[in-house]
Amino acid sequence: MKRSLVPSSAGAAVRAVLRPSTDALRAAGIEDSALSAYQNRVDRGVKGWMHLATATGDLLLATSDADAATADGLHALRQLGADLGGILAKNKLRHVTLDAQPAALTVAEGLALNAYRYTKLFGTKAKDQWTLEQLDVVGSDSAEFTTWNALMDGVTEARDLINTPVLQLGSLELAARAEQLGAQHGFKCTVLHKAQIEALKMGGLLGVNKGSVDPPVFIVLEYRGEGAKADQPIALVGKGVVYDTGGISLKPSNFMEDMKCDMSGAAAVLGTFCAVAAAKLPVNVVGLIPATDNRLNGNALVPGDVITISNGVTVEVLNTDAEGRLILADALHYAKKYQPKLVIDLATLTGAASRAIGPYATVAMGTADRATWDALQASAGMTHERLVEFPFWDDYKELIKSDIADIKNIGGAEAGMITAGKFLEYFIDYPYVHLDIAGPAFLDRAITYYGKGGTGVGVRLLTHFLTAQSRA
Ligand SMILES: [Zn+2]
Repeated sequence: MKRSLVPSSAGAAVRAVLRPSTDALRAAGIEDSALSAYQNRVDRGVKGWMHLATATGDLLLATSDADAATADGLHALRQLGADLGGILAKNKLRHVTLDAQPAALTVAEGLALNAYRYTKLFGTKAKDQWTLEQLDVVGSDSAEFTTWNALMDGVTEARDLINTPVLQLGSLELAARAEQLGAQHGFKCTVLHKAQIEALKMGGLLGVNKGSVDPPVFIVLEYRGEGAKADQPIALVGKGVVYDTGGISLKPSNFMEDMKCDMSGAAAVLGTFCAVAAAKLPVNVVGLIPATDNRLNGNALVPGDVITISNGVTVEVLNTDAEGRLILADALHYAKKYQPKLVIDLATLTGAASRAIGPYATVAMGTADRATWDALQASAGMTHERLVEFPFWDDYKELIKSDIADIKNIGGAEAGMITAGKFLEYFIDYPYVHLDIAGPAFLDRAITYYGKGGTGVGVRLLTHFLTAQSRA
């Protein structure tokens, strides 16, 4: 989808206008019959879009009383944009000009998110797929548009990465794509390969990789925007399990088919770097992505094995499907060398998180101070990428005690999302936020602005948060 800023909707074949005044419509040459139909809806208080075929083309008119200054209002305006996407798809309209000032970019965001399609792998049916090829947004603030457009590109990139099967996107392809994106958007990307990962003694990443024929990679992203304060960076860590079979603790096949999405945390980190770097945001960020697939080849980890993470902590692996925390452990330890002021990890980590709150929000926990949580929650509200804070009490450490190693990688049936977080706490020495995105990362049905598949959850949240931090 190409997105452009245009000065007006004059002459467009498909126009979508929010809250038009009848005077403006008359001035734009809209026939009286259309005008009175619209006025009739306004008088009756009908919300949503009205689709008119006029002499000059398709005209979509919407009324809304949403207040763009509030989180709820922004959500309603994005939802209005998503509804527009539904109408455009149904009518196979591929080019729209959206006039929705002053909330144009918010409505456009809902539309762009809704109109996303993953079409790269269609073969003979490619020509039958509807896509929104061009979205023109009426407005005049080109700096604001550029920043927004970079965000939409970042979300799209994340969703494409998530939706790409492992056959097309193994660990090495993910690393190659990260390098490409770095060159394209202006952030540094360094890929550590197996020999370097061995030299760093990353026993978690190497352990999970033992059953794979593809090597592991450890991707390091660095971005310091012009004008960024010369202080400690914020580090973003993303789980990059490019496919999770569960390993020897094999998943049942109906729980496995979507497991290309187990690198959604990595995708969110990459998407955020694209958005932040392309918008030239004055922030100092580091991104760390440990990546491998989790399979059950001849020499794979078996339940009962003990491995040593790069900080010397030993882990009894009682379930090879609890692999995300093993590779994150090495990444969180690696993050210490940057002396970060904050580390946020994103991971499709536990079924427990998804069972607790479903696909509607992210499970969050950690050691960061209240001011950080308040800032994150403010961003979560404004982007509708909502966070639910879970406890991070030390009581839960009891559940991951091992008889033969420092800790075990699974804590039993109770509070699985929290025992996973407490496991990760063994590898940090900085303020920390753990985001378990297992629920909202990949949808099996359309929810709000998103269709089925990868959502890129985290990109809009983190970009909003980093933007706010850059101004603080
Ligand atoms: Zn797993």
